Amino acid sequence: MFSARFSEKIRARQDGPLTASGIDMLQVNVGYRCNLACKHCHVQGGADRQEAMSRETVDAVLAVLHDGRIKTVDITGGAPELNPHFRYLIEETESAGCHVVVRTNLSIFYEKGMEDLFDFYDGKHIELVASLPSCNGEHVDRVRGKGVFDKSIAALRKLNNLGYGSDRGRTLNLVYNPAGAFLPPVQSSLEATYKEELGSAFGITFNRLYTFANMPVGRFRQFLLRSGNFETYMEKLMQAFNPETLCGLMCRRLVNVAWDGRLYDCDFNQMTGLGIAEGYPAMIRDFDHDRLASRKIIVDDHCFGCTAGQGST
Ligand code: SF4
Repeated sequence: MFSARFSEKIRARQDGPLTASGIDMLQVNVGYRCNLACKHCHVQGGADRQEAMSRETVDAVLAVLHDGRIKTVDITGGAPELNPHFRYLIEETESAGCHVVVRTNLSIFYEKGMEDLFDFYDGKHIELVASLPSCNGEHVDRVRGKGVFDKSIAALRKLNNLGYGSDRGRTLNLVYNPAGAFLPPVQSSLEATYKEELGSAFGITFNRLYTFANMPVGRFRQFLLRSGNFETYMEKLMQAFNPETLCGLMCRRLVNVAWDGRLYDCDFNQMTGLGIAEGYPAMIRDFDHDRLASRKIIVDDHCFGCTAGQGST
Protein backbone atom coordinates (compact mmCIF):
# COMPACT_ATOMS: atom_id res chain seq x y z
CA MET A 1 0.00 0.00 0.00
CA PHE A 2 2.95 2.31 0.61
CA SER A 3 2.99 5.44 -1.48
CA ALA A 4 4.57 8.79 -0.80
CA ARG A 5 1.63 11.14 -1.24
CA PHE A 6 1.30 11.97 2.46
CA SER A 7 5.08 12.34 2.92
CA GLU A 8 5.11 14.76 0.00
CA LYS A 9 2.41 16.86 1.68
CA ILE A 10 4.50 16.99 4.85
CA ARG A 11 7.64 17.90 2.90
CA ALA A 12 5.76 20.76 1.24
CA ARG A 13 4.88 22.17 4.69
CA GLN A 14 8.06 21.70 6.68
CA ASP A 15 11.77 20.95 6.34
CA GLY A 16 12.02 17.54 7.97
CA PRO A 17 9.71 14.55 8.45
CA LEU A 18 6.80 14.43 10.91
CA THR A 19 8.22 13.91 14.40
CA ALA A 20 6.85 13.27 17.89
CA SER A 21 6.78 16.18 20.29
CA GLY A 22 6.60 14.29 23.59
CA ILE A 23 4.66 11.36 25.04
CA ASP A 24 1.53 12.19 27.04
CA MET A 25 -0.21 8.91 26.44
CA LEU A 26 0.43 5.20 26.06
CA GLN A 27 -2.21 3.60 23.87
CA VAL A 28 -2.49 -0.08 24.70
CA ASN A 29 -4.21 -2.44 22.28
CA VAL A 30 -4.83 -5.53 24.41
CA GLY A 31 -6.05 -7.71 21.55
CA TYR A 32 -8.31 -8.04 18.53
CA ARG A 33 -11.02 -10.28 19.95
CA CYS A 34 -14.45 -8.65 19.92
CA ASN A 35 -18.08 -9.63 20.41
CA LEU A 36 -18.94 -7.55 17.30
CA ALA A 37 -17.59 -7.45 13.74
CA CYS A 38 -18.46 -3.89 12.63
CA LYS A 39 -18.31 -3.02 8.96
CA HIS A 40 -15.88 -0.10 9.41
CA CYS A 41 -13.56 -1.70 12.01
CA HIS A 42 -9.92 -0.80 11.28
CA VAL A 43 -8.77 -3.65 13.56
CA GLN A 44 -10.94 -6.27 11.83
CA GLY A 45 -11.92 -7.38 15.29
CA GLY A 46 -14.20 -10.35 15.80
CA ALA A 47 -15.05 -13.39 17.91
CA ASP A 48 -12.58 -15.53 15.97
CA ARG A 49 -9.52 -13.35 16.67
CA GLN A 50 -7.10 -14.99 19.09
CA GLU A 51 -4.53 -12.20 19.56
CA ALA A 52 -4.49 -11.16 23.23
CA MET A 53 -1.92 -9.35 25.36
CA SER A 54 -0.30 -11.73 27.84
CA ARG A 55 0.18 -11.03 31.56
CA GLU A 56 3.92 -10.71 30.90
CA THR A 57 3.36 -7.97 28.30
CA VAL A 58 0.83 -6.23 30.56
CA ASP A 59 3.52 -6.18 33.25
CA ALA A 60 5.99 -4.67 30.77
CA VAL A 61 3.42 -1.94 30.08
CA LEU A 62 3.01 -1.34 33.82
CA ALA A 63 6.77 -1.10 34.30
CA VAL A 64 6.77 1.81 31.83
CA LEU A 65 3.90 3.50 33.68
CA HIS A 66 5.59 3.16 37.07
CA ASP A 67 8.31 5.43 35.74
CA GLY A 68 5.70 8.19 36.29
CA ARG A 69 6.28 10.20 33.12
CA ILE A 70 3.22 9.08 31.17
CA LYS A 71 0.02 10.50 32.58
CA THR A 72 -2.71 8.83 30.48
CA VAL A 73 -3.32 5.29 29.30
CA ASP A 74 -5.80 4.61 26.50
CA ILE A 75 -6.94 0.98 26.51
CA THR A 76 -8.35 -0.34 23.27
CA GLY A 77 -8.92 -3.55 21.26
CA GLY A 78 -11.04 -5.37 19.85
CA ALA A 79 -13.30 -5.26 22.83
CA PRO A 80 -10.60 -4.69 25.48
CA GLU A 81 -12.86 -6.07 28.22
CA LEU A 82 -12.41 -9.56 26.72
CA ASN A 83 -8.72 -9.68 27.57
CA PRO A 84 -8.38 -11.76 30.78
CA HIS A 85 -5.93 -9.20 32.25
CA PHE A 86 -8.10 -6.14 31.47
CA ARG A 87 -9.19 -5.42 35.04
CA TYR A 88 -5.70 -6.04 36.43
CA LEU A 89 -4.32 -3.56 33.88
CA ILE A 90 -6.85 -0.91 34.94
CA GLU A 91 -6.30 -1.42 38.68
CA GLU A 92 -2.53 -1.26 38.34
CA THR A 93 -2.62 1.67 35.93
CA GLU A 94 -4.68 3.60 38.46
CA SER A 95 -2.23 2.74 41.22
CA ALA A 96 0.56 4.08 39.02
CA GLY A 97 -1.33 7.40 39.17
CA CYS A 98 -2.38 7.45 35.51
CA HIS A 99 -5.65 8.62 34.07
CA VAL A 100 -7.37 5.64 32.40
CA VAL A 101 -9.35 5.85 29.16
CA VAL A 102 -11.22 2.75 27.97
CA ARG A 103 -12.72 2.34 24.50
CA THR A 104 -15.94 0.37 24.71
CA ASN A 105 -18.49 -0.83 22.17
CA LEU A 106 -21.20 -0.71 24.92
CA SER A 107 -22.84 -4.00 23.89
CA ILE A 108 -20.02 -5.84 25.68
CA PHE A 109 -21.78 -5.20 29.01
CA TYR A 110 -24.40 -7.77 27.99
CA GLU A 111 -21.99 -10.56 27.03
CA LYS A 112 -21.65 -13.70 29.12
CA GLY A 113 -19.05 -13.22 31.86
CA MET A 114 -19.45 -9.42 31.88
CA GLU A 115 -22.35 -9.32 34.34
CA ASP A 116 -20.27 -7.48 36.97
CA LEU A 117 -18.62 -5.00 34.61
CA PHE A 118 -20.93 -2.15 35.68
CA ASP A 119 -20.00 -2.86 39.32
CA PHE A 120 -16.31 -2.79 38.39
CA TYR A 121 -16.70 0.63 36.76
CA ASP A 122 -18.79 1.86 39.70
CA GLY A 123 -15.66 1.91 41.86
CA LYS A 124 -13.61 3.81 39.29
CA HIS A 125 -13.13 7.30 37.91
CA ILE A 126 -12.10 6.28 34.44
CA GLU A 127 -12.98 7.88 31.13
CA LEU A 128 -15.13 5.79 28.82
CA VAL A 129 -15.08 6.40 25.08
CA ALA A 130 -18.04 4.60 23.58
CA SER A 131 -18.76 4.09 19.91
CA LEU A 132 -22.26 4.99 18.76
CA PRO A 133 -22.30 5.62 15.02
CA SER A 134 -25.85 7.01 14.97
CA CYS A 135 -28.86 7.89 17.13
CA ASN A 136 -30.92 5.80 14.75
CA GLY A 137 -31.35 2.18 15.85
CA GLU A 138 -31.72 0.66 12.38
CA HIS A 139 -28.64 2.45 11.19
CA VAL A 140 -26.53 1.24 14.14
CA ASP A 141 -27.72 -2.36 13.75
CA ARG A 142 -26.90 -2.28 10.05
CA VAL A 143 -23.27 -1.32 10.77
CA ARG A 144 -22.72 -3.24 14.02
CA GLY A 145 -25.15 -6.14 14.11
CA LYS A 146 -28.76 -6.84 15.09
CA GLY A 147 -29.75 -5.74 18.59
CA VAL A 148 -26.58 -3.69 19.21
CA PHE A 149 -28.42 -0.35 19.37
CA ASP A 150 -30.80 -1.47 22.14
CA LYS A 151 -27.91 -2.86 24.18
CA SER A 152 -25.93 0.36 23.65
CA ILE A 153 -28.85 2.48 24.89
CA ALA A 154 -29.35 0.23 27.93
CA ALA A 155 -25.62 0.45 28.75
CA LEU A 156 -25.57 4.24 28.39
CA ARG A 157 -28.54 4.58 30.75
CA LYS A 158 -26.92 2.34 33.32
CA LEU A 159 -23.62 4.25 33.04
CA ASN A 160 -25.54 7.51 33.53
CA ASN A 161 -27.01 6.01 36.73
CA LEU A 162 -23.46 5.36 37.92
CA GLY A 163 -22.57 9.01 37.30
CA TYR A 164 -20.77 8.58 33.97
CA GLY A 165 -21.62 11.34 31.52
CA SER A 166 -22.54 13.84 34.20
CA ASP A 167 -20.44 16.43 36.01
CA ARG A 168 -19.61 13.99 38.84
CA GLY A 169 -16.07 13.27 37.62
CA ARG A 170 -16.86 10.20 35.53
CA THR A 171 -16.46 10.98 31.87
CA LEU A 172 -18.49 9.35 29.13
CA ASN A 173 -17.63 10.42 25.59
CA LEU A 174 -19.21 9.10 22.42
CA VAL A 175 -17.68 8.46 19.01
CA TYR A 176 -19.37 8.85 15.65
CA ASN A 177 -17.95 7.65 12.37
CA PRO A 178 -19.71 7.68 9.02
CA ALA A 179 -21.50 4.58 7.74
CA GLY A 180 -19.93 4.85 4.29
CA ALA A 181 -17.30 6.49 2.10
CA PHE A 182 -17.95 10.07 3.17
CA LEU A 183 -16.45 12.50 5.68
CA PRO A 184 -18.02 13.19 9.08
CA PRO A 185 -20.04 16.36 9.65
CA VAL A 186 -18.77 19.18 11.86
CA GLN A 187 -18.20 17.81 15.36
CA SER A 188 -19.87 20.61 17.34
CA SER A 189 -23.13 20.55 15.40
CA LEU A 190 -23.40 16.74 15.47
CA GLU A 191 -22.68 16.78 19.20
CA ALA A 192 -25.63 19.16 19.70
CA THR A 193 -27.86 16.85 17.62
CA TYR A 194 -26.78 13.76 19.60
CA LYS A 195 -27.39 15.54 22.91
CA GLU A 196 -30.86 16.59 21.81
CA GLU A 197 -31.87 13.23 20.32
CA LEU A 198 -30.43 10.92 22.99
CA GLY A 199 -31.69 13.25 25.72
CA SER A 200 -35.26 13.57 24.46
CA ALA A 201 -35.73 9.96 23.33
CA PHE A 202 -33.89 8.10 26.11
CA GLY A 203 -32.94 10.60 28.83
CA ILE A 204 -29.23 9.92 28.13
CA THR A 205 -26.47 12.43 28.87
CA PHE A 206 -22.81 12.35 27.84
CA ASN A 207 -19.83 14.69 27.90
CA ARG A 208 -18.40 15.02 24.38
CA LEU A 209 -19.00 13.56 20.95
CA TYR A 210 -15.96 12.92 18.75
CA THR A 211 -16.45 12.61 15.00
CA PHE A 212 -13.81 10.51 13.26
CA ALA A 213 -13.37 9.82 9.55
CA ASN A 214 -13.20 6.15 8.63
CA MET A 215 -9.57 5.24 8.04
CA PRO A 216 -8.85 3.43 4.76
CA VAL A 217 -7.40 0.41 6.56
CA GLY A 218 -8.72 -2.92 7.82
CA ARG A 219 -12.31 -3.89 7.10
CA PHE A 220 -13.24 -0.45 5.77
CA ARG A 221 -10.39 -0.59 3.25
CA GLN A 222 -11.64 -3.99 2.08
CA PHE A 223 -15.13 -2.55 1.68
CA LEU A 224 -13.74 0.36 -0.36
CA LEU A 225 -11.80 -1.98 -2.62
CA ARG A 226 -14.75 -4.36 -3.04
CA SER A 227 -17.15 -1.57 -3.91
CA GLY A 228 -14.69 0.16 -6.27
CA ASN A 229 -14.64 3.26 -4.04
CA PHE A 230 -11.07 3.15 -2.78
CA GLU A 231 -9.48 5.77 -5.04
CA THR A 232 -12.53 8.07 -4.89
CA TYR A 233 -12.43 7.98 -1.08
CA MET A 234 -8.66 8.59 -1.00
CA GLU A 235 -9.18 11.52 -3.37
CA LYS A 236 -11.84 12.89 -1.01
CA LEU A 237 -9.47 12.62 1.98
CA MET A 238 -6.62 14.23 0.05
CA GLN A 239 -8.81 17.09 -1.21
CA ALA A 240 -9.86 17.76 2.39
CA PHE A 241 -6.24 17.87 3.67
CA ASN A 242 -6.05 20.54 6.37
CA PRO A 243 -2.49 21.53 7.40
CA GLU A 244 -3.86 23.02 10.63
CA THR A 245 -4.43 19.47 11.90
CA LEU A 246 -0.72 18.52 11.74
CA CYS A 247 0.31 19.94 15.09
CA GLY A 248 -2.51 18.06 16.90
CA LEU A 249 -1.99 14.61 15.36
CA MET A 250 -2.21 12.00 18.12
CA CYS A 251 0.92 10.18 16.91
CA ARG A 252 2.95 13.23 17.92
CA ARG A 253 2.00 12.82 21.60
CA LEU A 254 1.54 9.06 22.11
CA VAL A 255 3.10 5.66 21.62
CA ASN A 256 0.92 2.69 20.71
CA VAL A 257 1.67 -0.81 21.99
CA ALA A 258 0.22 -3.94 20.39
CA TRP A 259 -0.95 -7.14 22.08
CA ASP A 260 2.46 -8.73 21.41
CA GLY A 261 4.44 -5.82 22.86
CA ARG A 262 5.47 -4.23 19.56
CA LEU A 263 5.48 -0.43 19.44
CA TYR A 264 3.80 1.72 16.79
CA ASP A 265 3.04 5.39 16.18
CA CYS A 266 -0.71 4.74 16.37
CA ASP A 267 -3.32 1.99 16.13
CA PHE A 268 -3.71 2.55 12.37
CA ASN A 269 -0.01 1.99 11.76
CA GLN A 270 -0.30 -1.13 13.92
CA MET A 271 -3.02 -2.47 11.60
CA THR A 272 -0.98 -1.72 8.49
CA GLY A 273 2.14 -3.31 10.02
CA LEU A 274 4.18 -0.08 10.03
CA GLY A 275 6.31 -0.28 13.16
CA ILE A 276 8.26 2.48 14.90
CA ALA A 277 11.03 3.99 12.73
CA GLU A 278 14.27 2.04 12.49
CA GLY A 279 16.81 2.91 15.15
CA TYR A 280 14.23 3.44 17.93
CA PRO A 281 13.07 0.88 20.53
CA ALA A 282 10.63 -1.49 18.84
CA MET A 283 9.24 -3.40 21.85
CA ILE A 284 7.59 -2.30 25.10
CA ARG A 285 10.28 -4.10 27.12
CA ASP A 286 12.88 -1.77 25.53
CA PHE A 287 10.81 1.41 26.02
CA ASP A 288 13.01 4.50 26.23
CA HIS A 289 10.96 7.62 26.92
CA ASP A 290 13.56 10.19 25.89
CA ARG A 291 14.37 8.57 22.57
CA LEU A 292 10.77 7.82 21.62
CA ALA A 293 9.59 11.32 22.59
CA SER A 294 11.30 12.88 19.58
CA ARG A 295 11.19 9.97 17.11
CA LYS A 296 10.46 10.24 13.44
CA ILE A 297 6.88 9.17 12.70
CA ILE A 298 6.18 6.65 9.97
CA VAL A 299 3.45 7.89 7.64
CA ASP A 300 1.58 6.46 4.67
CA ASP A 301 -1.45 7.47 2.66
CA HIS A 302 -3.95 6.31 5.31
CA CYS A 303 -2.69 9.32 7.32
CA PHE A 304 -4.88 11.51 5.09
CA GLY A 305 -7.73 10.13 7.22
CA CYS A 306 -6.33 12.03 10.22
CA THR A 307 -5.84 15.34 8.41
CA ALA A 308 -9.10 15.63 6.47
CA GLY A 309 -11.30 18.59 7.37
CA GLN A 310 -11.40 19.20 11.11
CA GLY A 311 -9.05 16.25 11.70
CA SER A 312 -9.77 12.90 13.27
CA THR A 313 -7.40 12.43 16.15
S1 SF4 B 1 -2.53 7.43 10.84
FE1 SF4 B 1 -2.79 9.42 11.84
S2 SF4 B 1 -2.08 9.11 13.92
FE2 SF4 B 1 -1.28 7.42 12.67
S3 SF4 B 1 0.76 8.07 11.97
FE3 SF4 B 1 -0.70 8.67 10.40
S4 SF4 B 1 -1.24 10.78 10.93
FE4 SF4 B 1 -0.32 9.88 12.72
